[in-house]
Amino acid sequence: MPELPELEALVRALDGPLQAAPVTGTPTAHFAVLKTFQPPLSGLDGRRFTGARRRGKYLLFDVEDGTTLSMHLMSAGRVGYHAPEARQPKGTGAALRIAFADGGSLVATEGGTKKRMRVGLYTAEGLAELLDGLGPEPLDPSFDRAALDAVLDAAAHRLHPLLRDQRAVAGIGRAFANEILHAAQLSPFALSDRVDDAGRDRLLEAIRDTLGHALEVCEQRMGPQLPARNDARPLRIHKHEGEPCPRCAETLRFVDYEEHRIVYCPRCQTGGRLLADRRMSRLLK
Ligand SMILES: [Zn+2]
Repeated sequence: MPELPELEALVRALDGPLQAAPVTGTPTAHFAVLKTFQPPLSGLDGRRFTGARRRGKYLLFDVEDGTTLSMHLMSAGRVGYHAPEARQPKGTGAALRIAFADGGSLVATEGGTKKRMRVGLYTAEGLAELLDGLGPEPLDPSFDRAALDAVLDAAAHRLHPLLRDQRAVAGIGRAFANEILHAAQLSPFALSDRVDDAGRDRLLEAIRDTLGHALEVCEQRMGPQLPARNDARPLRIHKHEGEPCPRCAETLRFVDYEEHRIVYCPRCQTGGRLLADRRMSRLLK
């Protein structure tokens, strides 16, 4: 699933092209991905987008009439802008296709048969409702130690699922949760409210550095299209289980937890302890 760095790089790259020409015709959307019918998509015909931005994992395209097109790619959705001079994708079977008056297009697709992507056109009130409850943006300057403390102390949560919880902090998924906790040298299963002062400082720095660096790299590697295999992002830990830790050369281990594979370094993060697969231990009891 795309996360904050690649989604932020994407909206920055889309911001200019999307404003170049007005939409022409009614966008076509697969019935399973379109989650709204008021205001209708036909309202986009002849109108211009005024910009592209992101909140959490939502891509937001503002329209000149005050509405906003929202797109959540979930795990398998992809979206890209195709310039007028480029070959235009056919758009048959596309989750969403928006044509522009200058010949360009914005096309979203989703691999597999299940359509999980979510697209909708929202009024300002509708959008506020959609985004209500999302946690703070971790790269926003207002996300400081006090803001992190509020997230950690809200309840005793294990760090890895807490970082992925969009209501706690917005935009992080399993890949960057792995990267951040390794950079902070904290156990994925540590209880949030028990992380000491030094650990909290390391965690805040790791969140900023890891996401900030990944955003920079994604901006260099990506244009206004999300790469099909999501391979623009720099990952040192995620999907590197079995390989040497980039910090200490110990073998990176993994544990499966709630459908997610958590990768960690036992020497850097868990004081040498191997984390037990909870599903396995339950089965063995
Ligand atoms: Zn290590």
